[in-house]
Amino acid sequence: MSKHARWDASPLETLRVGPGFRLADFDAGSTPGFDGDEDAGEELMQERGKNLADLQEQLYAEGRADGTRSVLLVLQGMDTAGKGGIVRHVMGMVDPQGVQVRSFGVPTEEERAHHYLWRIEQALPQAGRIGVFDRSHYEDVLVVRVHNLVEPEVWGERYDEINEWELRRIGQGTKVIKCALVVSKDTQLDRLEERLHRPDKFWKYNPGDLDERAHWDEYMEAYQAVFDNCSTEAAPWYAIPANNKWFARLAITEILTTEFEGMGLTWPAADFDVEAEKERIAALRATGE
Ligand code: AMP
Ligand code: MG
Repeated sequence: MSKHARWDASPLETLRVGPGFRLADFDAGSTPGFDGDEDAGEELMQERGKNLADLQEQLYAEGRADGTRSVLLVLQGMDTAGKGGIVRHVMGMVDPQGVQVRSFGVPTEEERAHHYLWRIEQALPQAGRIGVFDRSHYEDVLVVRVHNLVEPEVWGERYDEINEWELRRIGQGTKVIKCALVVSKDTQLDRLEERLHRPDKFWKYNPGDLDERAHWDEYMEAYQAVFDNCSTEAAPWYAIPANNKWFARLAITEILTTEFEGMGLTWPAADFDVEAEKERIAALRATGE
């Protein structure tokens, strides 16, 4: 039986990437700030998910009125880290009408003809929506850096460019929440192997993932550089221990819900005379119309 577990320390503090953060020392199997088990975690996640759903509806309503605000959840992580599970389980708790999910794969020919931020701009959430990026503009300093897809001078300039770009988005009303799902190398191998033992997971298996895994250390360096350069005051990174999928989902639910709670959302006032409308309905009832 699960007891009613609570956070001892907010993941907004414990998981926020600050100066001196070292990915090499990070424990992907930890559950910082939460001492409950999986059942307790799921229970708390559902409870917080209800708040999240209410707040998301307020954001949506605000967007339908004349609001311009939106929220962008950026998800990064190595293969098998559980990005898809976050979309399914966390965003699955809110009204799908208010969510815009976009995954970023190898750029298409059209995308390659443009600046790397072009396809990202196209995918920004509309007012009132939560946008979710399953991979993002950060691939342009991750896979691109690891595989030398452009010269170091080119990717080297991108960190500042990304920070400036995010700051502009924030200035235009988009709250940017960046979560990196951190899985250990051993757990990744377990998860890849599991995919080969389950016909319902074959579709997720990509032989190329083993080739990418061979570059693990370079990826870790590239992630460390992202954390060093792009965990800004305006748009910090959160490093999410993701060996326990339930914890990653719980933590991201908590981060999102807390961020929403800080937005000062309210229900938009009626732009019509409520009392007059009630009288009109009463009149219709009286005449049986
Ligand atoms: P998946 O998320 O498993 O569908 O895989 C998408 C693949 O697209 C990953 O291997 C990414 O590294 C790759 N990808 C995403 N963005 C870029 C990019 N800008 N340049 C090159 N490869 C990318
Ligand atoms: Mg994949």
